[in-house]
Amino acid sequence: MSLYKNMTNPTVENLVIIGSGPAGYTAAIYAGRANLKPIVFEGFQAGGLPGGQLMTTTEVENFPGFPRGITGPELMDQMKAQAERWGAELYTEDVISVDLTQRPFTVRSEEREFKTHSIIIATGATAKRLGLPSEHQFWSRGISACAICDGATPIFHGAELAVIGAGDSAAEEAIYLTKYGSKVNMLVRTEKMRASKAMQDRVLSNPKIKVHWNTEAVDIFGNGHMDGVKIRNSKTGEESQLHVKGLFYAVGHKPNTSLFEGQIELDEVGYVVTKHGSVETSVEGVFAAGDVQDHEFRQAITAAGSGCMAAMLAERWLSFTGLIEEFHQKAETPDNELEHQPTEKKTTPEEFDLDATRHEGGYALRKLFHESDRLILVKYVSPGCGPCHTLKPILNKVVDEFDGKIHFVEIDIDKDRDIAQNANVTGTPTIQLFKDKELINEVKGVKQKSEYRKLIESNL
Ligand SMILES: Cc1cc2nc3c(=O)[nH]c(=O)nc-3n(C[C@H](O)[C@H](O)[C@H](O)COP(=O)(O)OP(=O)(O)OC[C@H]3O[C@@H](n4cnc5c(N)ncnc54)[C@H](O)[C@@H]3O)c2cc1C
Repeated sequence: MSLYKNMTNPTVENLVIIGSGPAGYTAAIYAGRANLKPIVFEGFQAGGLPGGQLMTTTEVENFPGFPRGITGPELMDQMKAQAERWGAELYTEDVISVDLTQRPFTVRSEEREFKTHSIIIATGATAKRLGLPSEHQFWSRGISACAICDGATPIFHGAELAVIGAGDSAAEEAIYLTKYGSKVNMLVRTEKMRASKAMQDRVLSNPKIKVHWNTEAVDIFGNGHMDGVKIRNSKTGEESQLHVKGLFYAVGHKPNTSLFEGQIELDEVGYVVTKHGSVETSVEGVFAAGDVQDHEFRQAITAAGSGCMAAMLAERWLSFTGLIEEFHQKAETPDNELEHQPTEKKTTPEEFDLDATRHEGGYALRKLFHESDRLILVKYVSPGCGPCHTLKPILNKVVDEFDGKIHFVEIDIDKDRDIAQNANVTGTPTIQLFKDKELINEVKGVKQKSEYRKLIESNL
């Protein structure tokens, strides 16, 4: 015990949690309630999105407490708000290095460094790519790893599409894409699917989905945008072409553990090894929760459950070693920035105000395009898109800084399809900057505030 006590230092944190999926936020809620004032690195781009894998899904039907279901992004917003309510300190940053060789441990992002007595690893898992020869060339030009984010893109409307994979994610993506595509081809490498029976039934009974058994993708072809996939029958070796405008990957996940290689026991695939029935790792004071240590169940509720276990064990360990420093606090009213965002001004012809900063929809964009000489920042989003959700508070803050100097227009590509088509939007979120009726820049995905700020400043 004294070994640890001697290292007590007022600037050392009780607990740093890495990851903000169900495991990370649940650990943060429990640790916050235990007065540990946990630090949470929510992540930014490494290993998925802040909020984790559920930010890329629509309905979550099996998380207890939501009999009518809840969307993935909404569920994660609620967890985040609850973690904040109990005093967790959140940073939307990637951890870039961890030193577990010396106590207290060190956890670093690009912007800050913390010394900490204990750590919970909740970095989850990342969608895999296939490494096809032309994959890079057609990435975001037909290939996507997120049907929910990109499915509503105009180029996919009424087009034939394909999904690669055989698990629950693949099944869910194929079903979702039938909303937009004329037909969805599901490429399954073997003669069976890994998806749950219920999901398989939904796929096999859907008249818009065709399952290609024993089929693997060999390469992509096209001219600028993809025109199709070269496929091979794995039994006969026969190759053929499938003419599709979109190819959606759902080929499994890789645990996000590169930060810990050589410092903690990992299995041959890279999952953190935990003690049987526990979330303790090979390093005392370091715990692992959720998909990063679970290759069997991989569910939001099991991730949340193990996040709870990790926080409770961390608290016990800190108490046992005498390292704990309690922060007594009153529960704050939830102050989730995602809940307090300015809503974009719904712009009807009667309401249109040329001087306003925020607008929404195609009518406003057309008017501003022709009548305003301000810089116009257009954000293209689609319903249920997790990254769009992540981007919202980031961009709102930046837009506030330029109030009165720019126009900010949100376009829902599902509602304003013609606008999205004319703007050649191939996925969401996408930001375009217009000045003097010219497109001057385009940014895809979610970036740091500083990047958007720089972009605006340099074009004002
Ligand atoms: C499309 C889809 C649909 C699903 N539907 C369901 C469902 O309906 N019901 C269900 O129970 N489960 C569902 N799942 C599974 C569920 O999402 C996962 O089991 C769960 O999210 C795992 O939670 P986690 O906290 O372990 O990790 P994740 O959700 O993977 O979160 C990992 C977190 O770690 C962060 N991170 C990674 N690297 C770093 C780093 N270097 N620094 C800082 N942060 C980092 C990421 O940003 C992320 O916040 C679905 C999964 C997918 C992909």
